Amino acid sequence: MSFVKGLKCRECGKEYPKEPLHVCEYCFGPLEVNYNYEEIKKVVSRDVISKRPPNMWRYREFLPIDGDPAVGFDVGFTPFMRARNLEKALGVQELYIKNDAVNHPTLSFKDRVVAVAISKAIEFNFKVVACASTGNLANSVAANAAACGMESYIFIPYDLEQTKILGTLVYGTNLVAIKGNYDEVNRLCSEIAGKYGWAFVNINIRPYYAEGSKAFGYEIAEQMGWRLPKHIVVPMAGGSLITKIWKGFKEFHKLGLVDILGTKVYGAQATGCAPITTAVKEGTELIKPVRPKTIAKSLAIGNPADGFYSAKVIRESGGWGEDVSDDEIIDAMKLLAETEGIFTETAGGVTLGVTKKLIEQGRIPKDESIVVSITGNGLKTQEALVGKIGEPMTISARLAEFDELLKTQNKSYPVKRSA
Ligand SMILES: [Zn+2]
Repeated sequence: MSFVKGLKCRECGKEYPKEPLHVCEYCFGPLEVNYNYEEIKKVVSRDVISKRPPNMWRYREFLPIDGDPAVGFDVGFTPFMRARNLEKALGVQELYIKNDAVNHPTLSFKDRVVAVAISKAIEFNFKVVACASTGNLANSVAANAAACGMESYIFIPYDLEQTKILGTLVYGTNLVAIKGNYDEVNRLCSEIAGKYGWAFVNINIRPYYAEGSKAFGYEIAEQMGWRLPKHIVVPMAGGSLITKIWKGFKEFHKLGLVDILGTKVYGAQATGCAPITTAVKEGTELIKPVRPKTIAKSLAIGNPADGFYSAKVIRESGGWGEDVSDDEIIDAMKLLAETEGIFTETAGGVTLGVTKKLIEQGRIPKDESIVVSITGNGLKTQEALVGKIGEPMTISARLAEFDELLKTQNKSYPVKRSA
């Protein structure tokens, strides 16, 4: 059973039926899923949710599919951990990592949105799923389409990381590399969606797709013991995730699943592609498109679809927007790996780098709870680290050479027995 009333325009409020629509025909505003919260309130409680299996579907009343999910049964409920070593390194008292770098099945938060989008596309009776992607979405659409036997077409900028290309092709999809940046890929995909009528998960299925991100926020609330953090830092590409985490927090508060809604939401971008944080810093509502130039390719969207709304969430919550350079991104990736043993992709470097900066600026106080949103896996963006983290110490398979190596490192260990 579904608790979805239909779709509703974010701008003028006009309501639409539950169909594969994404733009208001009156004002061209984006459409959003509209729920019957009174009915949801009658059936969900902390207790009901807690007893369900540990995946994203434990919040199914808040997700926009009518029947059972068609794919992605194990998605979500990713680790949430207190990061004690990182707390020391940053000089703060209470810091957590929400780790979607190990989401199922393709190691990024996109598995959440894709599980909802493909399930919905099947309910709408589409035969082909497609997407425009900066990499993680490509991986996830290809994998999930394969798992439910659907034909898929995936469109990417031609210069993505090798692992993201291989990690898409392996699922036997139709991968089309476009000689252009993401914004050009996206424009083409809008035309293809119009002409062929496919289910483009992040275009015509976007209102449903985007709802999957709310579960990232629900899980944080539940994993913190049914409360919200004081501060959360979220990476921004198209800007959808940050708006949906905020929507999820507000829904939980509205239904009494958390008592206090006092979270400040911070958006993180790379300096080489910072249209949203620039608008936040300049205090303007206008998101000026940029031409991306950053190693954080998964965040390289110069004309973000939800830019306006993400800036609004940041303002409304009392947060801030900040960005970091490529060098700062790499430093933060190393910091997370060396302190907590978590290997995140460049986007995670952006998020942690920005967190560090905001703490140093005093915008995030050191004695309040902070959540860092890690959304993707470092194994997918290894190119960014080549030449930046040293080389292995290569020796022959001879004990004498190893002894020599320890000496050159100025390290000495007690000898248990002579060889
Ligand atoms: Zn409208």
